[in-house]
Amino acid sequence: MDFLPVFMNVNQRRCIVVGGGEIAARKAALLAEAGASITIVSPTLCSAIQQKLDSSELEYIAADYQPDHLSGASVVIAATDNADVNKQVSQDAQSRSIPVNVVDAPELCSFIMPSIIDRSPVQIAVSTGGASPVLARLLRSRLESAIPAAYGRLASMVDRFRDKVKARFKDVNARRNFWEGIIQGDIAELVFAGKDEQAEQELEHAIKAGGEQNVGEVYLIGGGPGDPDLLTFRALRLMQQADVIVHDRLISKEVLNLCRRDADRIYVGKERNNHSVPQDQINQLLVDLAKEGKRVCRLKGGDPFVFGRGGEEIETLSANGVNFQVVPGITAALGSSAYAGVPLTHRDYSQSVVFVTGHLKDGSMNLNWQGLAQPKQTIVFYMGLKGLPTICEKLIEHGLPGDLPIALVQQATTPRQRFFTGTLATMPDLIANEEVKPPTLIIVGDVVKLHDKLNWFRSEAMIARGES
Ligand code: SAH
Repeated sequence: MDFLPVFMNVNQRRCIVVGGGEIAARKAALLAEAGASITIVSPTLCSAIQQKLDSSELEYIAADYQPDHLSGASVVIAATDNADVNKQVSQDAQSRSIPVNVVDAPELCSFIMPSIIDRSPVQIAVSTGGASPVLARLLRSRLESAIPAAYGRLASMVDRFRDKVKARFKDVNARRNFWEGIIQGDIAELVFAGKDEQAEQELEHAIKAGGEQNVGEVYLIGGGPGDPDLLTFRALRLMQQADVIVHDRLISKEVLNLCRRDADRIYVGKERNNHSVPQDQINQLLVDLAKEGKRVCRLKGGDPFVFGRGGEEIETLSANGVNFQVVPGITAALGSSAYAGVPLTHRDYSQSVVFVTGHLKDGSMNLNWQGLAQPKQTIVFYMGLKGLPTICEKLIEHGLPGDLPIALVQQATTPRQRFFTGTLATMPDLIANEEVKPPTLIIVGDVVKLHDKLNWFRSEAMIARGES
């Protein structure tokens, strides 16, 4: 170990930053967050520091560096663009036994500054001992994504209950077991979901009961359109801690693979015309599993509240007093738009966008066609593949031009993505000759023209077929 990791108290202590540029400004900002009393020494200042000066958060000495400036300092940072000055500061500080950091010169430092993940009061510091700041930053971003933003609030709650828990469990091991259960369990999850009050009540109960009772909860999670990289941090975390995964047809195997390996999986998918598990049975299943004390991940394609019947599922949960939380996902319209290079709005082509279901009921579609067939509006049809000829016909009938562009995005964001384009007049014939597979999204409007310029994503399916 080349350096000893420590966390230093600089609150209200005199800290000197030599240098007045952007890097000096960043270091000063960090010191300020830790409550330091900061003095900047530099003949000139960048605007970031100038602004701080105006709000009188800093003391400023407008001069070239002199050794005298270090008197009374607890910490010194040298961040000038002059190697000689930096070296001088390092020597002067070290001869006075003042901890010194020289930016980008580990050999001149008596301490180095780590990459940090700040979940105050939780602090995580990552260092490569100066070997590779880039690697430290990469590690940092991995940890950032794995540690919920609310960890700080969780730590504060634990802190508030420490004495009570100490009094309740005399034995150190019993105490450790208790806290391990809490920090990885439902109570922590309540904190992450912003239900701090309920978390505290349940923690009180758990202390009395001698441990957390598994109450069960349902996570209604948007699994996005297919590419697992599009999951949110929260979705991934909950997918990896759930005991049971309840999923349907739209969830890509790549996303499903990220769920906890040993979790039970229940498929409740609906094939077209073959409703394998009716909605009310799914709703009841979620209630039953949660009441058994299980953490249930209800994984839905795209976003659970966009044509996902997520609302119905949590209505039943709510009526049965089951805890739940909802995690948004990237809906198919946004995934298709981004991965096909078709912006849904654009200053020149479209002022509004509507998401509408193109599902055929008894062979027809009861939609407000007049409202849809408006100029400068993008229309996105979910579940519209079967009804495509009706969609094109009705839009033309209600005034949209036959040469208006229309696009189909099949299995958007996945390696199987394909893109088809045509006009309202030509598309029905065009797809009669192509094998277009669900799930497919339909985008209607002039924005489709932008695809030629903005299309950046080439899926494996497109490469294999030589499509652009
Ligand atoms: N809740 C989902 C939508 C469910 S409705 C969401 O927010 O995306 C099912 C319809 O979504 C499909 O018929 C199709 O039109 C669309 N869809 C879902 N995933 C898709 C994908 N990867 N590519 C294209 N369309 C998709």
